[in-house]
Amino acid sequence: MLYKPSIETMPLEKLRALQSQRLTDLVERLYKTVPFYKAQFDAIRLEPGDIKNIDDLSKIPFTRKTDLRDHYPYGLFAKPMDQIRRIHASSGTTGKPTVVGYTQNDLEIFDEVVARSLLAAGARPGMKLHNAYGYGLFTGGLGMHGGATRLGMAVIPVSGGMTERQLTILQDFKPEVICCTPSYAQTLSDEFARRGISTKDLAVQFAVLGAEPWTDAIRDQVEAGLHVQATNIYGLSEIIGPGVSQEDVDEKGTGSYIWEDHFFPEVVDKDTGDPLPYGEEGVLVFTTLSKQAFPLLRYWTNDICSIYYDHSHKRTHIKMSAIKGRADDMLIIRGVNLFHTQVEEVIHNTGGLSANYRLIVEKVQNMDQVTVEVESDQRTTVENENLAAGLKSKIKATIGLSMQIDIKAPGSIPRSEGGKLGRVLDKRNV
Ligand code: ADP
Repeated sequence: MLYKPSIETMPLEKLRALQSQRLTDLVERLYKTVPFYKAQFDAIRLEPGDIKNIDDLSKIPFTRKTDLRDHYPYGLFAKPMDQIRRIHASSGTTGKPTVVGYTQNDLEIFDEVVARSLLAAGARPGMKLHNAYGYGLFTGGLGMHGGATRLGMAVIPVSGGMTERQLTILQDFKPEVICCTPSYAQTLSDEFARRGISTKDLAVQFAVLGAEPWTDAIRDQVEAGLHVQATNIYGLSEIIGPGVSQEDVDEKGTGSYIWEDHFFPEVVDKDTGDPLPYGEEGVLVFTTLSKQAFPLLRYWTNDICSIYYDHSHKRTHIKMSAIKGRADDMLIIRGVNLFHTQVEEVIHNTGGLSANYRLIVEKVQNMDQVTVEVESDQRTTVENENLAAGLKSKIKATIGLSMQIDIKAPGSIPRSEGGKLGRVLDKRNV
């Protein structure tokens, strides 16, 4: 059985009972098998028996990326190597990669949550998936592959890069679904346009985009450019990979469902670590309730968002808002906190600009200066000047910062090759 609507619509009380049961089992297991967790508990005189249900979770200390690094590569594994069936590592966007492992059962959970995610994105058994996530240590490629196979799709394992070949496959192999990073979906859509190839005749209907922060500006561009419905998939290797949460194609813009029977979320204050009420923005923290090889208690993802219940929709599981950025990606500009996605949103609300942009941050006479490079089709200098002035004043009004605007010709800002695209070039410390 693939689709488990009963899990996705389970009444909250039952879901809480399931989560509590899974958490207490997990705590017992980790205390016995992972010395790091025993030490964490012992240090504050917490005993596994003190964790009686999911409401006791906040008694447990956080696990942080540095803890993973300190136990590199296998020190936090909770199963012996002869039970591990796969090893992945984070893409290392920030520092040394973190290594994660999966038992056969973990791989089955991975397949299941990705299958659920694809289904919510609009994919159906019998469709073909153009998988342009990288295959390899990164969880994206193999993770989407397994879930699509589980759902009953035919996978086209294209992997990232070689854009020309991607266009050919999209045209000739006729996949109904594509998955890749949002910035790479932009690249593909731009390339079709540049070559004058109409995307109306493509079979592709759904794009499942994730692995980096993005907003409706990019959604609009990709949906119009590729003639698809684009939804968000979120995940991180430490928790499992893609498929921790997914936006439903009929509920676009209202957040992504977190598959909370497996991944219990909290949002906490980034400075104090105190749990925040639903709807408030902070750091997302996950406890993996059912994983065996590499379970984590209260893992500090560093991703900034809010979580909330949305009972007007199809499922009972909690939703998360789009990720604003990582806490360590936050720029501090003349004392003001800034995520590039905030600028992306303003670009979206200003007509005439494409969602191809980047921020250049420099020190000019000891002052932080941000230049927004953004592409536009507008040709005349006057039109460009007007666009720039409009964007500048909107940014000032909504973000409170004065930025320089540089309107660029289409195609002049670096494009994603399939990995995660750096939208910020911070030249201050180089
Ligand atoms: P790395 O930390 O090396 O990038 P991963 O490949 O595991 O390792 O990436 C996970 C991270 O990617 C998440 O913690 C988050 O910052 C980002 N990410 C993944 N999916 C999304 C998404 N849909 N929206 C925003 N950010 C995302």
